[in-house]
Amino acid sequence: MENALELRGITKRFGSIVANDGVDFDLRPGEVHALLGENGAGKSTLMSVLYGLYKPDEGEMRVDGRPVSIGSPLEAIDLGIGMVHQHFMLVPVMTVAENIVLANEPRRGAFLDVDAATARVRELSDRYGLAVDPDARIEDVSVGMQQRVEILRALYRGARILVLDEPTAVLTAQEAQELFRVLEALKADGTGIVFISHKLNEVLAVADRISVLQRGKKVATLDAAGATEAELARLMVGRDVLFRLDKEAPRTGKAMLEVSDLHAADDRGLPALQGVSFTVHGGEVVGIAGVDGNGQAELIECVTGLRAPTSGTIEVEGKPIAGRGVERCLEAGVGHIPEDRHRRGLVLDFDLAENLAMREYRRPPMARGGLLSPKRLKANAEPLLKVFDVRGGTPDTP
Ligand code: ADP
Ligand code: MG
Repeated sequence: MENALELRGITKRFGSIVANDGVDFDLRPGEVHALLGENGAGKSTLMSVLYGLYKPDEGEMRVDGRPVSIGSPLEAIDLGIGMVHQHFMLVPVMTVAENIVLANEPRRGAFLDVDAATARVRELSDRYGLAVDPDARIEDVSVGMQQRVEILRALYRGARILVLDEPTAVLTAQEAQELFRVLEALKADGTGIVFISHKLNEVLAVADRISVLQRGKKVATLDAAGATEAELARLMVGRDVLFRLDKEAPRTGKAMLEVSDLHAADDRGLPALQGVSFTVHGGEVVGIAGVDGNGQAELIECVTGLRAPTSGTIEVEGKPIAGRGVERCLEAGVGHIPEDRHRRGLVLDFDLAENLAMREYRRPPMARGGLLSPKRLKANAEPLLKVFDVRGGTPDTP
């Protein structure tokens, strides 16, 4: 069968970083082809090239056997390529149907033909078992439903090649199963699906073929049937992977963090935390499990000073920090590696040295008499970049 999509020798560089290094990838109609790789392997970049968001430095693309150059997402959509991004791009105050037909409206004269749009949305939703209510407002529906709206939007625009970038990251196990059923229905209709993930079990369950990216290079394409998690893990990281750490029993010390009867509201003023208590001792790792949206974000914001709880206490080595702001938390010794590093962890326009000094910049030796010392920022950054194996950048790389 002719490939729906062929990428040949795609190279994409960002400065000195080679995000994609001569990557070949193809997709048949009616198959799920998983793109597997560690964080930073180049998966999203490759798909952004396909979707016309980045221009490749080298390489060729074919859709249905015809050479194409894709200069923008609109051109990608015209070629039948649909994309569901890692972060949804929906307008919260608008309805499902309105979001789906945005920029694509059936018109009756100058007006949006809402009835026609709603009917078409309903028809597509039924055909693929998407269970989407066209009249619901985006802000009122679950994350799983929002994702199905994104899929519907792509189908509405005529996608026959559908790219899903880490679609299960935001889903419950049950929602993920529902998504897999939808993908089966799409496959049966001849849609080719690129499924991006770094979860081995999932990729084995849903994919027909699997391609593995490692540091920008494609290291293998194999059939999912017969592949094992151990094999995929080895391809992904380039060495054998232990699925279980042989840990010694922790030698825990005194209580470092004590959270007691914490209550907090979310951004809409609704209860997000209701009486949470736990203690973290020196020398231990405490995991907090749960599906996105069940209060983890608010909990972390409270512990790092970004959100004031409505009641309860948080103490770091006996010092109260709840509701006293970020500065106080930093002084108490709380470090924070946020989930969304682009929004909260880094200042993208600053260089690495400046970003690495973000906690201490007010104090000597980083600053003297209120002035930053670029030399000292650099001296601070160099050993850190080495010790933490930060690849592809120097202290003055943005
Ligand atoms: P993945 O999706 O597999 O996690 P990405 O494609 O996002 O990986 O990133 C691949 C590499 O390219 C990473 O080293 C990342 O830091 C870098 N990168 C991605 N986008 C940009 C960009 N816009 N500018 C500079 N570097 C980038
Ligand atoms: Mg990515």
